[in-house]
Amino acid sequence: MTTPELPPLEAPPEPKERVAHPIRSLRELIDYVAGKSLPPLPPDDGRITEPTPFPFLAIVGQTEMKLALLLGLINPNVGGILLIGPRGTAKTTAVRSLLNLLPQVERSTCFYGCLPEDIELGGIDAVCPDCAKKYGEGIPLTAPDPVRLVELPLNARLEDVVGGIDEHAAAHHRMRIRRGILAQADRNILYIDEINLLSDEIIDSILDAAAQGSYTVRRGPLAATYRSRFVLIGSMNPEEGRLRPQILDRFGLRVIVRGLEDASQRLEAYRRVNAYLANPRQMIAQFAAEMEAAAAEIKMARERVKSVRLPDEVAHPAIQLVQKMGVDSLRAEITWFEAARAYAAADNRDEVTLADLKAVAPMALRLRRSSYMTEYFKGQQGEEHEMQTLLEKFGKKKRPTKTSKKTRRK
Ligand SMILES: [Zn+2]
Repeated sequence: MTTPELPPLEAPPEPKERVAHPIRSLRELIDYVAGKSLPPLPPDDGRITEPTPFPFLAIVGQTEMKLALLLGLINPNVGGILLIGPRGTAKTTAVRSLLNLLPQVERSTCFYGCLPEDIELGGIDAVCPDCAKKYGEGIPLTAPDPVRLVELPLNARLEDVVGGIDEHAAAHHRMRIRRGILAQADRNILYIDEINLLSDEIIDSILDAAAQGSYTVRRGPLAATYRSRFVLIGSMNPEEGRLRPQILDRFGLRVIVRGLEDASQRLEAYRRVNAYLANPRQMIAQFAAEMEAAAAEIKMARERVKSVRLPDEVAHPAIQLVQKMGVDSLRAEITWFEAARAYAAADNRDEVTLADLKAVAPMALRLRRSSYMTEYFKGQQGEEHEMQTLLEKFGKKKRPTKTSKKTRRK
């Protein structure tokens, strides 16, 4: 990790283009904060305050994990992030600390989740009467709202995840479907810790909903369809059980999170955690300026990423590399390209370069090769060959002498 030579924060502000921070891009900001050392903090005065997460940028090291999470915020098309590593490597801390960096999205203000695009697609009857009236009067159906972090509890039942009969309403002789966690996660982040311990039934329903962007629940005579466009973040400790390959394939970015190896980094991590435990507000204040700058950068990068181009001469060698690696899943290059676009946007550019692809390649491409599939295709080749040989003879006139001789010998 490099620490760019930048004026320290205490220096008098220089004239700069960007108001928030003298740093040029989100990339520089991450590197800069990683190298910042914390002054000793006075102990807290003991007042109870709102629980506030550890500042994301104050996490020591773990550059790849931080980068992957930020790329997911900038471009949801990276298709989810999987953090793989032992306990105590700040995986959950990192995900929860995204809270203060989350951008805003346009969200429906209606109970039924009506959106203007429903009307564009399905006409005025596609929304509820209230929203149809509003639309007619030119009143917006959505309002800006911060992205939320929705955590899936490990003991969640399928009913909690997809939704089920509203028992409270049923007691009053009304039948209604209650929104599940997946519907609540729409346009938010869904975090699943220990994803490898979830039941197949639940994980399949989550992955299907994430892939389709919507899902339908049927309970007796009732049915309801919900939107479910979310960024999925999963974490797992491989010591506690493996993840099925087809589930692994559905995650865009994959980060192997290891413990800090550098002794001075470990000491700095210890100091920061201690400072946070002793006086969370003071500790958070130490990083407030950078966190604010990062939030502003993410907001801008989210806009910019829409216009970041991927030139053919950059895409072609990348596809060749994926093929050379023997990766079959198309998701490899989709994720790789989308992550590189987010990376370029975070660096304030609108064209992907080979260097951008290189920077994000490991997290997009690792754990994509399947030894099972390689063996399977090898076995399949034998069968394929045999079938082709048989088909060449198929339908041709039999030469009776040879066949009859063979049969007679038996
Ligand atoms: Zn409505």
